[in-house]
Amino acid sequence: MATVTSYGAAKVVTGSCHLLAIEHGPRILIDCGMFQGREEDRNDGAFGFDASEIDYVLITHAHLDHVGRVPKLVKEGFNGSIYATAATRDIAEIILLDSAKIMKEDFETNFKKAQRRGKEQEVRAPLYAEEDVEAAFDLEWHHPEYDVSFEMAQGIKVTYRDAGHILGAAFIEITYEEHGVEQTIVFSGDIGNDNNMVMTNLAKCTHANYLYVESTYGDRNHKDTDASITEFKRVIIDTLHNWGNVLIPSFAVERTQEILCILKEMHDRQELPQCKVFLDSPMATRATEVYNNYSDLLSQQCQAYKERDGSVFNFENLVFTPDVEGSRAINEVDSRAIIIAGSGMCTGGRIIHHFKNRLWNPKNAVIFVGYQAVGTLGRHIVDGARWVKIFHEDILIKANIHTINGFSAHADQDAIIKWISQMEDLYRVYLVHGEEDKQVILRSVIENALHKKAHIVEPEEVIYLG
Ligand SMILES: [Zn+2]
Repeated sequence: MATVTSYGAAKVVTGSCHLLAIEHGPRILIDCGMFQGREEDRNDGAFGFDASEIDYVLITHAHLDHVGRVPKLVKEGFNGSIYATAATRDIAEIILLDSAKIMKEDFETNFKKAQRRGKEQEVRAPLYAEEDVEAAFDLEWHHPEYDVSFEMAQGIKVTYRDAGHILGAAFIEITYEEHGVEQTIVFSGDIGNDNNMVMTNLAKCTHANYLYVESTYGDRNHKDTDASITEFKRVIIDTLHNWGNVLIPSFAVERTQEILCILKEMHDRQELPQCKVFLDSPMATRATEVYNNYSDLLSQQCQAYKERDGSVFNFENLVFTPDVEGSRAINEVDSRAIIIAGSGMCTGGRIIHHFKNRLWNPKNAVIFVGYQAVGTLGRHIVDGARWVKIFHEDILIKANIHTINGFSAHADQDAIIKWISQMEDLYRVYLVHGEEDKQVILRSVIENALHKKAHIVEPEEVIYLG
């Protein structure tokens, strides 16, 4: 009998890693993501299985919590093939190299600090280095296209379908035969929110016997996206009219492109006051290039922009500043600048420099457009801090702080339920990639509204299919 064991994203959001073992068949890993936030220490631990015995890795999408431990897997002996859409591969390369760089820098900083206390042996070594990322990309990669089924191994048919989450993201359908009966199991990865300006909508899934579904926002429905966009535009217009600047801490992949798209639309409709828009992030600049390269996978609006302007995101006010000189030159701009920079939760990156230079000014505004985890500088500011310490200097916050919550790359409860309701022959739903309190709520909605059995997967619990 086939089994699935979840070695990550069981009762937590991060560390996605599910092992599908088909009887007398291959061992297939669906995602190999990093644990993040409070769970971070778990990355150092053993996988819970032998990496060298995995035959295939199927990647749903390029977020670090779905792809971040692939270099570790390779380091520990995985030598099989990797399947991911071509766009996912390109984004994953940017994300994994950046992650190796950050881990190296963190290690060097912590090592120096510990050395002063004679405790350098206590410093955690980086999970992997740039060479390990390169080794992962030297393996055999296959790039499935959406909705094109292929036989991955004898009797095992795989189909990637558009998850509408970030560029290249897919949910994966796997069909295999056991004792003469065909079974289909679907892994959702992360599924997106409809009506995103940049992404296409989540594709339908019409047939599944077993479903592993994410439940990040299984307990709630999102605020209306249109209302959030209106609020966002209002802050931009008011701040620029008042000769202030707008700082937007943003994640390099997806949220940045969404923000650029809104600003471009404002410019198109002549709603954007005279200003300069700086994308001050080398990583977000590279990610934006990849989005532009795969514009045929983006929304109708993005495709129309590409057709008209030759580029999805460029417009006359937009300036990319990937190098340090360009970034420093932004400091000379007194007013009417919109500065988009990482990191998204302000734990590092160029946004910190801009905070230092501009948080004291009551004419300026900061717009938080993404989730801020507990313990980050971003969260501290969102929670109303009056003073922050930046580069050993105390800064009084006088800028206007705005949090706009309506942007989300994840489906909400209604969207998850609607997606599941379209699946025929569904025997059981397994909830992963979510916190337990939210999963309990989603489970009861699935059971009561859809009359389907739903189960919250425990870490390393072996689920027998059939
Ligand atoms: Zn994701």
